[in-house]
Amino acid sequence: MTESNYSGIIERYRTFLNFPQEAQIVSLMEGNTPLVPLKRLAARIHPELTLYGKFEGSNPTGSFKDRGMTVAVSVAAHEGRQAVMCASTGNTSASAAAYAARAGMRCYVLVPEGKIALGKLSQALVHGARVLEVAGNFDVALSIVREICAEYPIALVNSINPLRLEGQKTAAFEVVDQLGEAPDYHALPVGNAGNITAYWKGYREYFAQGRCHRLPKMLGFQAAGAAPLVIGRPVEYPETVATAIRIGNPASWQGAIAARDESGGWIGAVTDQAILEAYTLLASLEGVFVEPACAAPVAGIMQLATQGYLQFPCVAVVTLTGHGLKDPDVALRRAVTSPLKISATRDAVLRAVE
Ligand SMILES: *Cc1c(COP(=O)(O)O)cnc(C)c1O
Repeated sequence: MTESNYSGIIERYRTFLNFPQEAQIVSLMEGNTPLVPLKRLAARIHPELTLYGKFEGSNPTGSFKDRGMTVAVSVAAHEGRQAVMCASTGNTSASAAAYAARAGMRCYVLVPEGKIALGKLSQALVHGARVLEVAGNFDVALSIVREICAEYPIALVNSINPLRLEGQKTAAFEVVDQLGEAPDYHALPVGNAGNITAYWKGYREYFAQGRCHRLPKMLGFQAAGAAPLVIGRPVEYPETVATAIRIGNPASWQGAIAARDESGGWIGAVTDQAILEAYTLLASLEGVFVEPACAAPVAGIMQLATQGYLQFPCVAVVTLTGHGLKDPDVALRRAVTSPLKISATRDAVLRAVE
């Protein structure tokens, strides 16, 4: 299929998806995201590391959530639902709001009070979603959404809806299509753990169809202040600068553990400081602007390389789950310089740039 007639992940990967043949597709032409070589960053980590970033920030609403949302919202519309609902740390609400708008459906989102990045909140609002700030964290919000959607004819579009994972697994297909083979390692941030579950499903299905001849080791990374999978029990008050993974009781807990164990991989924790350092390195060494959560697996790869866990030479892919513009506050706080105020003269400019 050529780029010019690309029309989204459902059309491209329909034979691999559990998608009703007769349903209309609600798409924003999501997917088909770049696999960006990260050579300067790789060189910093290890001379025999080949590193790529699957840049999901280039999806239409700026995160990988669009892959799952096209499937979930299309099926909800097909089933005659008139509204969708989700709990969200931000990106799910942005994506649900956009796809619901396109489908002519209402969208209700529950977000944790004061903990949602500015870009994401603005997206949900501009697309006309009803945004409810809950005085509680993500896990509380999700349990309320589950109860309501079980009782009312509202489609739940969180990743506990298996249609979301159906869509999200296409990112693994794309990695194989782009590399010509599965990588040795695939690293990603883990919040509610839907995405790591979806990727592992995608790799296994492609492998079963002979599209790749090996499977990657799956590496998942949580923030140290929100690392239930690492400590082995839910975290009641999760805390991290990476708000997209500020989740204390992942809904796809078992899926993440299965991905780790079946692939012979690893799930670890990285500190906020390591996350922010990796965030700055991606931006300054590679020109790749991501939101903080995406830097967790980069920090994780660095940690595993130092600890001697990674076997070199190797090819590793990191999923860069969301765009940096989602969370401009963090970028401004991290910036090494702030704009310099000068007078409007040639000399003042020259003095400032010498
Ligand atoms: C949703 C999200 C995550 C976490 O994905 P899970 O499937 O919940 O583990 C990570 N990064 C970003 C940018 C996200 O939007």
